[in-house]
Amino acid sequence: MQTPGQELCEECGEKRGNYYVCRPDGGPSRKLCKECYETSLSGPERAFMQAMRKASCRFCGGTAMTSDSMTSILEGPGSEPRFFCSSCANEYHQRMLPRLGEVETKLDGMPLEVQMESLSDLMAEMDLHMKRWVQQRDN
Ligand SMILES: [Zn+2]
Ligand SMILES: [Zn+2]
Repeated sequence: MQTPGQELCEECGEKRGNYYVCRPDGGPSRKLCKECYETSLSGPERAFMQAMRKASCRFCGGTAMTSDSMTSILEGPGSEPRFFCSSCANEYHQRMLPRLGEVETKLDGMPLEVQMESLSDLMAEMDLHMKRWVQQRDN
């Protein structure tokens, strides 16, 4: 029996497949190596991956692993993504999700500008929290 992570890429059959790619038709996900995964991406997705490789975590300067989807909601498509390392992303989302829930409940039925303003406030609050949190984590 093969252990997970040691299966070969379904595309080239040479390298180890570490990336799972969902099929558009909802079939079982394909397992690809890094190279084949990046080749399989669409133009904008590939540009995003390349940007992420060069980027560093917005809060601690660590290796970027993920980005914040909130930015594109608030600033519209084409905005600069904010990148996070995995450690900061964890903390960020743990903090952000319950707060986001509260804000959304409070804002239900409010005009869009008011909603956007509150979300911006929340983002600013999160930035502040993360700065403090990173300081504590790294000390
Ligand atoms: Zn491959
Ligand atoms: Zn970080």
